[in-house]
Amino acid sequence: MALDDPRRLIPRTDQLMALPPVRQARDRLSEDLVRALVRETQDRARRGEIAPDEVEPAVLAALGARSASSLTPVLNATGVVVHTNLGRAPLSAAALDALVTAGGYVDVELDLGTGTRSRRGAAARAALLAACPPAEDALVVNNGAAALVLATTALAAGREVVISRGELVEIGAGFRLPELIESTGARLREVGTTNRTHLRDYAEAIGPETGCLLKVHPSNFRLEGFTAGVEVGELRPLARAHGVPLVADLGSGLLTPDPRLPSEPDAATALEGGADIVIASGDKLLGGPQAGLVLGASDVVARMAAHPLARAVRADKLALAALEATLAGGPAPVVRALHADPDRLRDRAERLGAAVGAPVVAHDGRVGGGGAPGVPLPGWAVRLPEAAAPLLRTGRPAVLPRVHDRACLLDLRCVPEADDERLRAAVQTALAALAGAVDSTGGAR
Ligand SMILES: *Cc1c(COP(=O)(O)O)cnc(C)c1O
Repeated sequence: MALDDPRRLIPRTDQLMALPPVRQARDRLSEDLVRALVRETQDRARRGEIAPDEVEPAVLAALGARSASSLTPVLNATGVVVHTNLGRAPLSAAALDALVTAGGYVDVELDLGTGTRSRRGAAARAALLAACPPAEDALVVNNGAAALVLATTALAAGREVVISRGELVEIGAGFRLPELIESTGARLREVGTTNRTHLRDYAEAIGPETGCLLKVHPSNFRLEGFTAGVEVGELRPLARAHGVPLVADLGSGLLTPDPRLPSEPDAATALEGGADIVIASGDKLLGGPQAGLVLGASDVVARMAAHPLARAVRADKLALAALEATLAGGPAPVVRALHADPDRLRDRAERLGAAVGAPVVAHDGRVGGGGAPGVPLPGWAVRLPEAAAPLLRTGRPAVLPRVHDRACLLDLRCVPEADDERLRAAVQTALAALAGAVDSTGGAR
């Protein structure tokens, strides 16, 4: 490097690391992360992107903009309530409070009165039982898939799981239930055909090798036409006669029926209908944290809880706390979004449309998360040019619209009303940037 090379003037790493604001930033950011931000900024100066005397302010700006978590909050304007790519269910205020409390030392496994160890997650269990009266007992594990693995392992490893061919489903991104079940050492005993399965198919398959009967709710598709299936209630006498547990994987997590989703199965109805246990996710329609819920007969739940695998899939204290608070607190955002008043949605959409000069169109939201396929959630959307979508996604706050038919659609169903103003500001910023880009390329508006 020549003596007069301006790169000689770039502040050294140790100088930058010693600056008081940089030292303070190390209270909230790891030393490695701070050092990496410093190096990145020096590199920008070496490449000539910034001048040497701009390095220090650029480091301070980069540190100020950075937090320890790089997850970006997103306003979900897609109308899809349980959005897999956005982390499924957003938590209720009560659940968020509970998370903060549970982040410290808490009595998750301690009886404060006696000072002795208590049953882990007793409060979450009690809240589940209160919310689903037909259940005798409940167990909370890491997620729905873990609950299914635990059930088939504890009840059927080395033996057979009897299941209809119409229920051998792929849930999402390469996650196939049959492969998951076989990974436990249980053998699949497939009965019936893809479109039709009868009670006699189950009756012929059941025998000394049967570990359990499994009913899976094919939550992400619908079979129409010449179809036949066997309901839990019809299987009950067969399972009872052979002393074999009947397991129902419901997926969605409704604990009791929801009139808004008439064909979505719920835990209480399935248990009353004769399932020994039901399995469901905590972060789908229940609107809680990621969790696998097992509800039902106390002897079957006890067999699962006593299996060594239960320890490997147990729920963490954060999930237990958030689950209890989801059940005991006010309505979860998922529930609010599913039951949003269409007139109110229209008012909000029209206000946004008027503020940004864009039309409002009818738009159907979706349940999402593989739930209630084909059930529209009628509402409204503000329609913007398609080119607004990437600007909204990368703006602050980040906004995820639905891109459809060459338009960028903003459905307010899953946007908390308190965020309407932030959304309006984000849309105005995106539209202004779009207009600027069009003007500077000489294009017509
Ligand atoms: C979603 C789903 C699962 C998996 O639950 P996770 O909580 O995602 O692990 C299992 N079975 C069915 C029917 C589902 O819909």
